[in-house]
Order: sequence, then structure tokens, then C-alpha cells
Amino acid sequence: MKKILVTRSSMPPLEEYIEKIKILWESRWLTNEGAFHAELIEKLQKYLNVNHFELFANGHLALEIALQALELNGEVITTPFTFLSTTNAIVRNGLKPIFCDIDAETWTLDVEKLSSLITEKTVAILPVHVYGIPCNIEEIERLAAEHGLKVIYDAAHAFGARYKGRSFAEFGDMSMFSFHATKVFHTIEGGGLSIRDGELVHKIERLRDFGICLGGGDADYIGTNAKLSEFHAAMGLCNLEHLEKEIAKRKACSELYDSYLRGVQGIQIFPDIEGLERNYAYYPVVFHSEFPYNRDEIFEKLKSENIIARKYFSPLISHMHSFSYMEDKGETPVAEYIADHVLCLPIYADLEHDVIEKICKIILDKV
Ligand SMILES: *Cc1c(COP(=O)(O)O)cnc(C)c1O
Repeated sequence: MKKILVTRSSMPPLEEYIEKIKILWESRWLTNEGAFHAELIEKLQKYLNVNHFELFANGHLALEIALQALELNGEVITTPFTFLSTTNAIVRNGLKPIFCDIDAETWTLDVEKLSSLITEKTVAILPVHVYGIPCNIEEIERLAAEHGLKVIYDAAHAFGARYKGRSFAEFGDMSMFSFHATKVFHTIEGGGLSIRDGELVHKIERLRDFGICLGGGDADYIGTNAKLSEFHAAMGLCNLEHLEKEIAKRKACSELYDSYLRGVQGIQIFPDIEGLERNYAYYPVVFHSEFPYNRDEIFEKLKSENIIARKYFSPLISHMHSFSYMEDKGETPVAEYIADHVLCLPIYADLEHDVIEKICKIILDKV
């Protein structure tokens, strides 16, 4: 059987991309906030229903710049059940990550434990809508207001999803999206940031371009280079046209998995969350001890059939060698358990349904 990976980048029809980039051969305006960059921002603002949205070379730099713009100093409460980007952005801004445990059903920050970790050193909360599952937004906003904390969401997984009729860009002080090739909507490499406070927009734009003042000459900030090129923006404009169709195809894949796996003893699938319109970015499954095989055995069984599932997110960030310098990594038993038992099964728009059936039969020993 041909190799099946956990995801496969969606591509627009080649002619559509060629039509777009032909214009760049004429204009010779290849990067630095060109016309496609402006058009993509405008379309994303409309799609996400926000007033301020900025583009970046990748999601990680969007997050680093978001934190830098707030000029924070102290502790940031976050989850260890995420991708390295979340925590690295905190540390690379000279801030201290405080790892909070997650909820066993939603795999996002456990708000009761979160509330107990808030001290006078806490300056912000950086929650992750992991797999596109909404954090307990209401409670996080309430705690942030009560303690005067900033909330920056890592919404890298949540583009295209909606919660209670709102896009995930509408929550918190800022929300970061990744437009990496492996995400539901992509610009090859790229990222975005929604910004509630319009007064921060200019600063964030300057931080993206070395801190150089508009018009050049002087600089106001110590910025980095995180600009999105016109080729990347053009890919985004093409992909945006096909987004709804791609999500619908992902939904069909997800429902086929559900038809085999829902209700099986020892198997936990994506939580039912009222008001959530999913983007079907991931298909995570937790294999508990009541299931005859553990996560690693399932991983190996699939691998022997050339199906490469992924143990997202294992190990926990707090267990990575790069964080071994930290003395206090908090108590996160639920996150540890989920990291040891979760497996993300392949899902992407063009995944053949007979492959999904085969994967389920391998898992359920029906082959
Ligand atoms: C993909 C991802 C990012 C970073 O995105 P890049 O665009 O690759 O820099 C950040 N956080 C999470 C949870 C991600 O999955």
C-alpha cells in the first residue's frame, strides 16, 4: 500500500496560482506589503469578522511579535499539551512559562487549575484551542478581567472553525493563526494575528519589519523580519476560494471515522461541544486501558501497513530536553496521560474513504 501520512497539503488548481503570480512578473513587487498581501488581509478580516488582522512569514513569528508588542514582564500561564511554538514564543520574549494542566474531556486548559496558578507575577494567559477545540473561553475571559491579565490565544488549529457563531479571531486580546502547509488553510508558510486593540496595530506592523519607521530612515523598535511575500499571499488567495469545499470533504472523512470508532469501549474521540462548528483539522483518538491495544501498539500496527499516524502532542513541551533547565514544571498529570495515550489519525480533504475504512479495521482488528 502507498504511504499515507497524517496530513497532505491542499493545493489549488495550478492554473489558478499561475494566473495570480503572472501579475508578479509584471509588477516586480515580490514582498513588503504588496497588493496580494493587502487583498488577503481584507478578505481574512471579512471571513473572520475582525477589524484588525495582520499577516506574517509564519504563525510562530506572529506569536512572538504579539507578546513583544505587549511589553510584558513576568509569568505566562500556558498548556504543555501543544506544539513547541507556543512555549518557545514565551521564553524567547524573556517571559516565564507556567504549565497548567488540561481538562480530560476537552484537552484544553483546566480553568480551575488555571485560576489556582494566578499570582502577582502573572501577566498573561496563552491558551491553545488544541485540535480546533475551543478553550473555556468564557471562564478565561472572566479570570483575565478579574486579575488584569492579557489573553493571547494560540489558534493555530482553529482557522475555519466557529464557536457560538463567532470566528476564533474574535476572542482574547489577540489570536494567532498558522497558515503552514500542514494546516487546514495555508499560504505554504505563513501566519496571522487578530488584534483587538487597534492602537497596537501600527507597532505590530513595524515589529514585523525590523522596527523601521514608515517612510524609512529611523527605527522605533527592535523588530524582526516576519513579512509574508506576495507568492505566499497569492497562494492564500487561491486556497481561500476552496476552503469551504475542503472543510466539507474533511467533515466526510471525520464522520466515516466516527461511524467506526464512536462508542467503542476504551476509545475516546473528539468531544461534542455545543456551539462548535468544526474545521476537522485533526482526528485525535485517545486509547484507554479498556481498549485491547495501547496507543504505541496501534501506532506500530498502522506503521507496518505504511500508515503514518502522529503522536500529537507527545512528549509534552515541559518534558522536552530544551526545557530541562526549568526547575518547576508544574503538576500536569492529565496532560501527561493524554500525551501518552493520544494518536492523531490521517485526515485531509482528498483522503480516500477506503483508506479510512482500512485504518479503522486495523485499529479494531477486523482485517
Ligand atoms: C503549527 C503551529 C504553530 C506554529 O505555526 P507555524 O506557522 O508553523 O510557525 C503554533 N502553535 C501550534 C499549536 C501549531 O500547531
